[in-house]
Amino acid sequence: MLKLYNTLTRRLEIFTPLQNNKVGLYVCGPTVYDRAHLGNARPYTVFDVLVRLLRKTYEVTYVRNITDIDDKIINASLRTGDSIETITHKTTAFFHADMRALGNLSPTIEPKATEHVHEMIKMIEQLLKQGVAYAQNNHVLFHVPSFPKYGALSGCNCEEILAGARIEVAPYKKDPTDFVLWKPSTPEQPGWESPWGRGRPGWHIECSAMSFKHLGASFDIHAGGRDLIFPHHENEIAQSTAVHGAGTFAKYWMHNGILLVNGEKMSKSLGNFITIQDLLSQAHGEVIRFALLSTHYRQPLDWTNETLIQAKASLNRLYTAMEGFKDESSSQVDGSIIDALQDDLNTPLAIARLHELAREANKINDPSAKKEVQAKIKASGAFLGLLQSSSETWFQTGSPQDLNSEMIETLIIKRRVARENKDFKIADQIRLSLEEAGILLLDTPQGTTWRRK
Ligand code: AMP
Ligand code: ZN
Repeated sequence: MLKLYNTLTRRLEIFTPLQNNKVGLYVCGPTVYDRAHLGNARPYTVFDVLVRLLRKTYEVTYVRNITDIDDKIINASLRTGDSIETITHKTTAFFHADMRALGNLSPTIEPKATEHVHEMIKMIEQLLKQGVAYAQNNHVLFHVPSFPKYGALSGCNCEEILAGARIEVAPYKKDPTDFVLWKPSTPEQPGWESPWGRGRPGWHIECSAMSFKHLGASFDIHAGGRDLIFPHHENEIAQSTAVHGAGTFAKYWMHNGILLVNGEKMSKSLGNFITIQDLLSQAHGEVIRFALLSTHYRQPLDWTNETLIQAKASLNRLYTAMEGFKDESSSQVDGSIIDALQDDLNTPLAIARLHELAREANKINDPSAKKEVQAKIKASGAFLGLLQSSSETWFQTGSPQDLNSEMIETLIIKRRVARENKDFKIADQIRLSLEEAGILLLDTPQGTTWRRK
């Protein structure tokens, strides 16, 4: 029995699909103006585990769009001198490479906003016909006061919304909370012909139109980061249900917690981000995936220097337990791991169970009994998109340098000082954690040297 936390009802709910054995899932995709950062990787990795879990039981249509119309892209083009198309094509290819490195499966459908402008225009026309939108100065706006249920997802009170909206009060708005469905483009900006002149869609209508095209008026799950709850998802609900009727659109809303650096959201605008690509030069994609899945998806995830080191050490432990295992025997995924995931995607519990199995494997001497446990670890790991390499490959090539020389030298000095102070417990701990991170210390009469395993 699958239980998921639904942001809309603020409860853990038993998941029942709208259609017997089929599930439609829409995850808001990246805006392709620049390299994705680690915070962006979180939703695509945690909801990848959701897709893998759902696929055990259902036929899943996983839609993850590409937002290739956005003012951030226009600005990037002005800044770099590259054409919009060059930027979006390049960034989409980078994004795909990042997703592959993190072990994320491709979505079933990856619609591009630029290929759905006709559908967006049609939807805006319907909103105008319903009387919930109005055209003014070549803009079309959604009139929020005409949608009484506005705010149901975020629980946002109107004052808060107003305070946020006031920043961008424009003369053509009837109400400060009204948001853009269509806006005019200058001749240099990308634009499409429409009943309101040449222009381009607003961000929110893109997802409403693309989800309708590929999943229909009602579908099962809509997901994204918490930061999208308001205004993006709130606005999507307003647009889609105004057109298709109350009770339509997504049944379950899932949101991942925010990835933080020193307590602040990792984001492009704050400048405190690390791109997935940069991180991949420090660690194997599997280490990053492991680190992202080690915290429950709804919790905030505070990213520190330690996060990767710990993930690497844990993976090394698991791969050590797989030593000598050749892929000849197969097994089912461990039942407790499935149970953990069925409980609102409890990936930390699933990982804890992997460690339990690893400890079991390490204790067994009988080769065939050991192989059985190892086969279970392999199948369970694969289900989570982990433990894809053989133990031998992992220790030979699978772990690029997490710790740079400077960090290692510092730890060696700390260990020497601890030993001089006869603090052998600390000295041993340092040696052990370095070993787990793949660094071997060699004590010689001339001092301590090190090498990578
Ligand atoms: P964007 O390309 O900015 O629309 O973001 C793509 C996805 O990344 C969305 O689902 C966002 O909610 C998510 N996201 C962005 N920053 C973070 C962060 N720091 N932590 C977790 N999720 C994030
Ligand atoms: Zn969206």
